[in-house]
Order: sequence, then structure tokens, then C-alpha cells
Amino acid sequence: MILENNLPYFRSFVHGVNTNIPLPNGQYTPEINFDNAATTPPLKSVLYDILAFSPMYSSIHRGTGFKSRYSSDMFEKSRKTVAEFVGADPEKDAVIFVKNTTEAINKLSYRLDKRSRKDIILSTSMEHHSNDLPWRKRFRVDYIDIDKKGRLSLRDLEYKLRKYGNSVRLVAITGASNVTGYINPINEIAELVHNYNSEILVDGAQMVAHTPVNMRPENSKQRIDYFVFSAHKMYAPFGTGVLIGPNTTFEEGPPDYAGGGTVDIVTHDYIKWAEPPHKEEAGSPNIIGVVALSSAIKTLQMLGIQNIHNHEKDLTKYAMEKLKSIPYIEIYGDTQDYEDRVGIITFNIQGIHHEELANILSFEAGIAVRNGCFCAHPYLHSLLNVSRDVIEERINDSSLPHPGMVRISFGMYNNTSEIDTFVNTLSKISKNKKHYLKKYASINANSRYRKSNF
Ligand code: PMP
Repeated sequence: MILENNLPYFRSFVHGVNTNIPLPNGQYTPEINFDNAATTPPLKSVLYDILAFSPMYSSIHRGTGFKSRYSSDMFEKSRKTVAEFVGADPEKDAVIFVKNTTEAINKLSYRLDKRSRKDIILSTSMEHHSNDLPWRKRFRVDYIDIDKKGRLSLRDLEYKLRKYGNSVRLVAITGASNVTGYINPINEIAELVHNYNSEILVDGAQMVAHTPVNMRPENSKQRIDYFVFSAHKMYAPFGTGVLIGPNTTFEEGPPDYAGGGTVDIVTHDYIKWAEPPHKEEAGSPNIIGVVALSSAIKTLQMLGIQNIHNHEKDLTKYAMEKLKSIPYIEIYGDTQDYEDRVGIITFNIQGIHHEELANILSFEAGIAVRNGCFCAHPYLHSLLNVSRDVIEERINDSSLPHPGMVRISFGMYNNTSEIDTFVNTLSKISKNKKHYLKKYASINANSRYRKSNF
């Protein structure tokens, strides 16, 4: 059932959701933003809290002035807010502020590299590149298979854990896919991983603003060892991300970035590093970003992540059932049983390149979607059944159009009337492909992305 009562309520918390944008025909329309998986607009409370904090803004950790002490206190207290939000242990876990999920995973890959002889990372065939490429630099990486519907194969996970035995340093897995929206059963997977004496990292980029997370459930085998996410995907777009993991991981050895703030004492020939998390946060920290993140967490907690999840699930159901009746549509992933998804749906319309379709949706009705491969090429290749030959051809000739899809992704503020507009527009385009392709031919021909990397 659609939670109609919640719609205006959630929406009223988000800034810029009724912004009028220009169309190529000169008219203005409120933008419909279905690209929340890429980034979300800011919460109003985040903007207010930044303004409220700004008269006290000052240098962190090094100043003795009142404002500096206040800012430092705010920064440090935010670690607890973050830890509580995802159920981390504020005593045992370090909450490290970084730029984004990508930086968090790169940092962890550096850290794990330095302290272990185990040299296998089990990533998966559904990962964002940010949870794949960093591991390739320093480890041997193998990929857990997906099944025919694109879900992670837990059977293959167990097979590979058994196969590699004690060599598996980490299982690096997404909490929710940015392509199909599938939510992985992370605590169940963690239990399996711990039974095989390994550790788990969950990429929480697509989870935190959409579904509850508990890093430390009662059954300790189900704990999540490392968790990462980006604030800009949870209504706080001010340049902060988070890496959470046991203090012990960061205690020994030098950090990836050295410099101000990372040390206890230094001579010309000696460095004593500071304790984590400080040794991992080189240079002046992003206090405004952290204030924003903290504020977003408080608002999301007040609204209730489970309520947001339920609402977005209803939106997904509403959209999925309508999309199924659009002519020439191909929807990716399981379209019958999709309870285990965050609000993400990917599709193509036969006969229109994904980029042209995304452009037309924007030009025709001000609907913002995403197209391409969503930084998850191997997953897309599987879902689209792209053969190795086609990939080779594309590798050798980057002017060839690349495979891809169109993605819609919901935030808590989206509503059914936006979905109606989207579905009606998509239906019109699908039924009158030639007309729309001709209408926007010149704009599409100059498209920035048509030949760009995918
Ligand atoms: N992982 C997933 C699942 C994502 O969706 C994204 C962003 N699209 C990232 C990692 C990377 O996030 P960021 O760009 O904020 O580092």
C-alpha cells in the first residue's frame, strides 16, 4: 500500500524538490529527480544546521580559542552519532572521516595490505568499481558469482570461502546494488564469512539512506567488520564519507596519507603516530561536511529509516508494475519477486540507445535519470549478456556506442504522481520512437556522453 500520508511529510524535509528547470522548448517545469542513487539533494535541516554552526566555525583540534574547541567537540561527537546510526561499537570501532565511499575503500585496501599475509579478496560480480578496483592494486581478487536474475550466489560465496581457506583476507561486498537495487543479506553473509575465519567489508553507499543497518547484532558472528558510505547519497552533500572498522586494524604502521594531524611526536628521524582515528585523517578535516552528515543522520533517525524504506518499497512496487506494461521495455533483474530491492529499477527500451532515451526523458518532461554502466561494467555485461567479443571490439574502438541501461532511483521525497508522469512520458516515447528520436536528433548528436567512457 502506498503511504500517501507520508508523501508530503517526507518531501517537506528535502530542499529543492520543486525547482523549476528549463526545457528545450523554452517552457519551465518542476524537475523530477529519479537519480538519487548518484546523489541526493540536501535536507533542509542540513542547510539550517550548517548555517547555525557557521558562526562557530573554526580550526579543528589545533586551536585553543573557544570556537576551535567548540568545532573540535562537534567533530568528535559526530563519530558517536555515526557509530550509533549503523550500530557500530564506539569503543572498539574507529569512525574515520574521509571524502567518500571510494576513498574509504582505497584507505582500507592500503591498511589491510600492510598487516596480513592473507592475499585473496573475495569481491563480487555485482560491485561498483569502487569496491573492486582498489583491491586489484594489492591483492589477488576473485569474484563471487551472480545467479541468472543477477542476485549474489551465496552458494558460490561458500564454495570460494572453502576453496581459498585461510587465504581470504576479506569479503568485500555491496550492501545494496546501485544497478538492480538488490539488498544483500549482509548479516547472514557475515556469519558465513566469520565461520571461515575471514572478515567482511560492506559497501553501504546505497544502503544508509534507504534501509536500516546494524553492524553489531546480538549474534556476534553476524557483525559487519568494516562499513563504508558517502554522505552525499544521504542528503548531506558536503564532501564527507565514512570508514568504520576495528581500531586494531589502524593501530600499527603508517597511514596511507601522512602529514598534519596524524602524529603524536616527530623528530627528523622518528615518527610516533597518533592513535586512530586521527592518524587516518591527514590534514585539516572537513568539519562542515561532518556537521552536515551528523545533521542528516539525526533527521533520518527522526523520520525512521524503516519508514523511509517502506515508502520507497511502495514506490518501487508502484513503478515496477506500471513499467511492465510499457511496450518494448526490458527491465533488468527479478521483476516478479523484488522485495529485496532498494528503490532502483534499470531498463532499456528496444530500438533506442540508453543515452538517447535518458536525454529525451530530460528534454521532454524534465525527468532526471541516469544511463550507462553505473561504474559497474562487469555486472552490466552479465545482465545485458554482452559477449567477450563485443567487449573486445569496444576496447579496441572507443568510438563504438557502449552497452548500458537507464536507471531510475528513488529518494524518500519522490511520489506516485512523479512516477505517473515518468511512466506516461516513457510510454509515449516507446510508442513513438521515430518521432522523438527525430525531434531531439540534433541535441542527441552533440551529446556529451555518447562516446565517452562508460
Ligand atoms: N558503491 C556504490 C554501490 C555506489 O553506488 C557508489 C556511487 N555510485 C559508490 C560505491 C561510490 O561512491 P562515491 O562516489 O561517493 O565514492
